[in-house]
Amino acid sequence: MKVIKRSNKMAKSRPEGGWEIRVFHRKAIGKRNPRYLLKCGCCNEQLEIVYGGGSLEINGVMGSVEDWREILLPLLKVHARRAKIQKHRSAIVPQDTNNRRIRQSRVASGRRRGTAG
Ligand SMILES: [Zn+2]
Repeated sequence: MKVIKRSNKMAKSRPEGGWEIRVFHRKAIGKRNPRYLLKCGCCNEQLEIVYGGGSLEINGVMGSVEDWREILLPLLKVHARRAKIQKHRSAIVPQDTNNRRIRQSRVASGRRRGTAG
């Protein structure tokens, strides 16, 4: 399994908006399973995910990987769609629409002038 590594800087912005989740990983030590510690990008709120052995413990809630998949996958899919839309809106609409509006109004006024004059 690939371990996710990040810079873990506080208040690092994401392209889709918001702060990047800070990710800390601990390898398996003896009988202790490996775990991820996910921290909020803006404060010290955290979430612990202990994994290995076919089970997943998220903040003390133990469940099979399959059980977690059933719960989390639909949420993550929905989130991915929303993130795409938000990214699309924030990246294209605010900047380009203004530019287009300016261009369109210039073109439109030019046409009006053209037809009027
Ligand atoms: Zn926070």
